[in-house]
Amino acid sequence: MSFKQNISKKLDDGSLPGVDLNHKFNFMCHDDCMGTCCTNITIQLDPWDVELMSRHLNISGQDFVEEYCDVGFSNEMKWPYVTLKHAAKGPCAFMLEDGRCEVYPARSRNCRTYPIGRAVRFDEKGNKEERVFIVEKMSFCLGHNAEDEWTVEEWFNDSEAQKFYQMSDLYLELINYATTKLNSRVWMSQQIGQMIMPLLYGPDMLRKKLSISEEEVGHEEFYHRRLKAVKVILEDIAANFGFGPQTDVEAETFAGSVMDRVKEVLLSQ
Ligand code: SF4
Ligand code: SF4
Repeated sequence: MSFKQNISKKLDDGSLPGVDLNHKFNFMCHDDCMGTCCTNITIQLDPWDVELMSRHLNISGQDFVEEYCDVGFSNEMKWPYVTLKHAAKGPCAFMLEDGRCEVYPARSRNCRTYPIGRAVRFDEKGNKEERVFIVEKMSFCLGHNAEDEWTVEEWFNDSEAQKFYQMSDLYLELINYATTKLNSRVWMSQQIGQMIMPLLYGPDMLRKKLSISEEEVGHEEFYHRRLKAVKVILEDIAANFGFGPQTDVEAETFAGSVMDRVKEVLLSQ
């Protein structure tokens, strides 16, 4: 069972109680355990996490993934995923000597909201269901002993989490669309996963290839376009297996190749 499914199961059976935005809790990071939580831990990154961290470090998304990440393929979800490489086997590459975070302003959504977690799932109609919960306490974490009291909403606002959730949800919507409408679990392979990786994690390379500057298309807008472009590719592949909306579309309706349509989406006004 994957980590996400495990969380969902615990939320369903009540062993991990869900909380609402008004729920109050005590927390503040403590110097004595600073960074202990950033060692030997799985930190999953989505495309927006990688985008912000790589921009903060002023390196390309692809270089970031190459240098700091492990790329895997979930056989359950049939989808590629990215995790922080060093943190999985020891201290995170971004942990400074005093335990603080080198990329703090751009840290991933999971790093920024601990000890609050958030799980998202979609019902059969594609409606999003958001569940917020208190992450299971780590024995070494002294933050829970603090006198500082927060509501979950205050915590999210203070950590500027909402923007990350908004962008992350767009990616989750894409995955949900692929699995439910395009039956991607039937045909998605590691090779197809690799094919969409540059669109998910390598905006700089795409900009270079297509001569799209940030002045022309800002990075948030480009993120939206990249996810749309992935959708175009996946719909095209799904049609070959008899799934998705393009199975009903006559081949001649499309003037160019799938790559032409991808370019069109990325360059569209
Ligand atoms: S208080 Fe907990 S979350 Fe904060 S630095 Fe210490 S171990 Fe990490
Ligand atoms: S990115 Fe920063 S907060 Fe997240 S695990 Fe690494 S050092 Fe810790």
